[in-house]
Amino acid sequence: MKHCAIVGINWGDEGKGRMVDLLTEKYDVVIRYQGGGNAGHTVVNEFGKFALHLLPSGIFRRGVLNILGNGVALDLENLWTEMEQVRSQGVDITPEMLKISDRASLLLPWHRMLDGLEEARLKDRAYGSTKQGIAPFYSDKYQKKTLLAGELFDREALRAHALQLLEWKNLTLTGVYGAEPVSPDSLMAWLDDFGEKLKPYICDTSKLLREAQNAGKSFLFEAQLGALRDLDYGIVPYTTSSNTLAAYAPVGSGLPEARIGEVIGVVKAYSTCVGEGPFVCEMFGEEAERLRKAGAEYGAKTGRPRRVGPIDLVATRYGVRMQAATGIALTKLDVLSDLKEIPVCTRYLLDGQETDDFPFPTLLDRCRPVLTSVPGWQQDISGFRRWEDLPAEARSYVEMIEKAVGCPISYVSVGPERDAYIFRG
Ligand code: GDP
Repeated sequence: MKHCAIVGINWGDEGKGRMVDLLTEKYDVVIRYQGGGNAGHTVVNEFGKFALHLLPSGIFRRGVLNILGNGVALDLENLWTEMEQVRSQGVDITPEMLKISDRASLLLPWHRMLDGLEEARLKDRAYGSTKQGIAPFYSDKYQKKTLLAGELFDREALRAHALQLLEWKNLTLTGVYGAEPVSPDSLMAWLDDFGEKLKPYICDTSKLLREAQNAGKSFLFEAQLGALRDLDYGIVPYTTSSNTLAAYAPVGSGLPEARIGEVIGVVKAYSTCVGEGPFVCEMFGEEAERLRKAGAEYGAKTGRPRRVGPIDLVATRYGVRMQAATGIALTKLDVLSDLKEIPVCTRYLLDGQETDDFPFPTLLDRCRPVLTSVPGWQQDISGFRRWEDLPAEARSYVEMIEKAVGCPISYVSVGPERDAYIFRG
């Protein structure tokens, strides 16, 4: 079986966690390859409802190996808290089921401090960070000033390296921001505490993946956020600090030689966006509030109300191309069920010219959406499981998106539960 990546096509929150939870059944290994605890993948299954931040969504399936690859921002404390939370809901997590790459860099307590301090300094120009330390973490990783998870196994060497970094980081904390320095004791206590808890899970995951691939096992690569948040190809600077594209999955997972045969791009049936930055198709007022409520569009990590709008075909086509999607999972179609007319953003108007192309980031503020509307179906579709049972208007809506973005829609999701979907093949 081919390896598969499940990725976001838009701004994130498309329902990737729900798709990974569904599809893990078919795969042997699920790997998170980028990002950190800043996102929330909501999963609803037989154990209950979960907002996963760092744990791979395959954690609920017996017999599935879950891996946190070298590309993730490994916050030991947040990961441990999340594991304890998931365990408290009746899900077993053992070192046989979860492996952490020894090459993953550690997100340290000062990364979260710096995230908050910088957003406070920026005041009304803040990026809308979730303050989980992701941007400071990746900056330090590129400066080669982080610790690797594998260093936890040699305490003396770890201490020497950690104290070197601490000396450097305190210059920024105290000198630039006027904050309290981090003390060597508190840093070492943090590393000792969470390091001991998580050491049993840390190993050479590249070796493990290579062996698994040689044994014919299939992998599912799980991304966080969406194409428009990619550090290189997204709406810079309103992106995340890592690469959210499927193309990065082999590198961030620990098996750069892996070939991905299938890329499922997750698209929501309308648009949502968390945080700052241009959002061309944004709706306001009552219409927006109704959609937000119908879709329960409040951040899984922060509880922040998400900005909402109609489906944006320009951005979605761009996301599909950036992800090299071979198929689409369209989620939350049921949320549109009440609408008599469904608005759709078909093109952008930029300086008086209509365009199908997603513009350079700095031009987005000058774009206006070109809107049309299509008939709604005005009936509850959450119970449907076969394509031919869907109302004609719902099928037309799906086919319209499929045609506009040039990629087959293989799955249509009509509810948050594991089985609430239609497979179109
Ligand atoms: P992710 O980060 O891409 O996994 O997305 P989130 O978890 O942040 O947001 C998706 C939300 O939509 C979650 O609350 C899911 O339970 C919910 N969801 C996913 N698919 C559907 C669907 O088809 N219908 C409805 N009503 N909710 C869905």
